Amino acid sequence: MPFLGPKTKIIARFRCAICYGSDADESTIARDSSDVLTSNLADAANFMLRSIAGEEVMSRTALVTGGTRGIGLAISAGLKAAGYAVAANYSGNDDAAKSCEATTGAKCYKFDVSDFDSVGAGLAQIEADLGPVDIAVNNAGITWDAPFHKMSQAQWQKVIAVDLDSAFNVTRQIWEGMRDRGFGRVINISSINGQKGQFGQVNYSAAKAGLIGFTKALAQEGAKKGITVNAICPGYIDTEMVRAVPENVLESIISTIPVGRLGKAEEIASMCVYLASEDAAFITGATMTVNGAQYIAG
Ligand code: NDP
Repeated sequence: MPFLGPKTKIIARFRCAICYGSDADESTIARDSSDVLTSNLADAANFMLRSIAGEEVMSRTALVTGGTRGIGLAISAGLKAAGYAVAANYSGNDDAAKSCEATTGAKCYKFDVSDFDSVGAGLAQIEADLGPVDIAVNNAGITWDAPFHKMSQAQWQKVIAVDLDSAFNVTRQIWEGMRDRGFGRVINISSINGQKGQFGQVNYSAAKAGLIGFTKALAQEGAKKGITVNAICPGYIDTEMVRAVPENVLESIISTIPVGRLGKAEEIASMCVYLASEDAAFITGATMTVNGAQYIAG
């Protein structure tokens, strides 16, 4: 028999039990594979297994930091639609959080991802309400741009704290639980500007490049425990963050995107939903570039 993971083995035994009774093994099915009855029963088993997989999704909890607006809102909606219990975090905009709850069905939690203790309190509340976090999308991020010769220490520290420290603050406090349960998904929302650098964004580019290093190192530690760790690097996506860019600058940015438009938040969300799924179990330590070919990362 080829190598089967624990879940596949359970599935194979489950199929055998349905088709032949609990004593049957996989070779029995192989011998009788031409039997129509077997095939019908196998179809029925497959249907039930899909239901079981669905139940697994239903019982899993996802946290999306900065999950109430922009890209995070689309990720919260995408994960909710895929059947997860979703906690959407935010830092201050209560109106956006209310709207997020109403439109996605996600439950919203206000805490500051740049503060370790604030994250700890938020996670405790999420666990009490929805159960422990199985999927963490480290999405919350800010920009505070300036050319380096004018960048203040506050600009540097704030962006590093919200965009990079946050990944530690969240992931460190759910990591042991993921290890104990033998399942986890950590998805870090980096940026095209963490891959290529950007004038006026030394702080942001450093934080986003840091997330890629964080991803590559932690993926190695999670691999044997059923935990995948990946980064997504969006290009320019049509959100408030990008709409704040002066129009003439935005036009010149769009002219450098071969696809000829800004990306949509939903195009990042669909990648995220895939990385959270069982199907993506072999993808870990990866940097997924989603940028309309604006920057082809090696
Ligand atoms: P938005 O500004 O639209 O939304 C940011 C979200 O993060 C909000 O929900 C906000 O909460 C939350 N947030 C900000 N600071 C904190 C904090 N300290 N603690 C908790 N939550 C916080 O951002 P985008 O959707 O544009 O960006 C999302 C991520 O994608 C960011 O990491 C960004 O760097 C990255 N990215 C974005 C690109 C783009 O083109 N938009 C391109 C590449 C990467 P509140 O509503 O309360 O303020």
